[in-house]
Amino acid sequence: MKAVVYSGYGVTPVLTQVDDPVCPADGVVIAVDATGVCRSDWHAWKGHDPVPLPHIGGHEFAGMVTQAGPGVTRWRAGDRVTVPFACGCGRCEYCLAGDAQVCPRQTQPGFTGPGSFAELVAVHAADANLVALPSSVDFVTAACLGCRFATAFRAVTAHGRVRAGDWLAVHGCGGVGLSAVLIGVALGARVVAVDVSAAALGRARELGAEAAVDAGAGDVAALIGGVTGGGAHVSIDALGSPAVAADSVRCLRRRGRHVQVGLLPEGSVPLPMDLVIARELEIYGSHGMAARDYPAMMRLVADGTLRPGLLVGEVIGLEDVGRALAAMDGLSVAAGMTIVELPAGGTSSPE
Ligand SMILES: [Zn+2]
Ligand SMILES: [Zn+2]
Repeated sequence: MKAVVYSGYGVTPVLTQVDDPVCPADGVVIAVDATGVCRSDWHAWKGHDPVPLPHIGGHEFAGMVTQAGPGVTRWRAGDRVTVPFACGCGRCEYCLAGDAQVCPRQTQPGFTGPGSFAELVAVHAADANLVALPSSVDFVTAACLGCRFATAFRAVTAHGRVRAGDWLAVHGCGGVGLSAVLIGVALGARVVAVDVSAAALGRARELGAEAAVDAGAGDVAALIGGVTGGGAHVSIDALGSPAVAADSVRCLRRRGRHVQVGLLPEGSVPLPMDLVIARELEIYGSHGMAARDYPAMMRLVADGTLRPGLLVGEVIGLEDVGRALAAMDGLSVAAGMTIVELPAGGTSSPE
């Protein structure tokens, strides 16, 4: 098969011919139809998250099952599917309780093994991790869901428990943040978007954010307090920095909920725990979303309540993945999610 491979951290990835993946006994091989290029792929390529080298990145994808292992009971060749970026083992106490997103033995195509910047990708524990795509959801839209959109959905709904009329503050309007804006607006929340980039704030406004706060314009928590008349009910750090995390906690009204989605540097992060006590705030971490929780989100995508397709920026070919990764060296300017689309039936091309 063809795949985009890099031989070392920061070395330009090249489109090349490699062996097809072997189908795991409990897993499947999926022919990739579309796959997103995410900042996590850039982090792996830069060596911030160690990966086995040489490596094939790519972790948010959708496609069709081409092969199922003998242990798979729920899926077969021809099924249209997507998967969460964190795939559970399917057997441990967390997976059995439906929390595969925190499985201690999770596999992540594109990080722990070869990913989806390829014509074919293998997924382990298929019965626990595959998600069926409704016929109304196309592959490019579905490729948005596996990482940033699902993570934002779980942050807004399961942890944030956002209700219509609530104020939702979203700090950082990149892929995850704009997903959270779109989801919050669709669920009837009043969204205040926060970013240093005027372009990112403009995009958030287009997606329905009621207010925009320039993070460089002063005390962010005070500015949000003014906009919301006393603070946000729910606040999400979608960027991932100690200062933003603290602002996100400080901007909450009493009984508010902070959800940490952006990845933070290793080490301790100081948070205003005095406010957590005095205002009875709740603090959550959010790490993707298990396959079990996808159907509720997928129904809202299929009926048009949620429109992740609005987040798609550039659609490129597999040969442009290296260029797209390199473009992330600069600050992202909210151009939308870059999605790689593979030619239908590309896997059958003889080489
Ligand atoms: Zn598990
Ligand atoms: Zn991702």
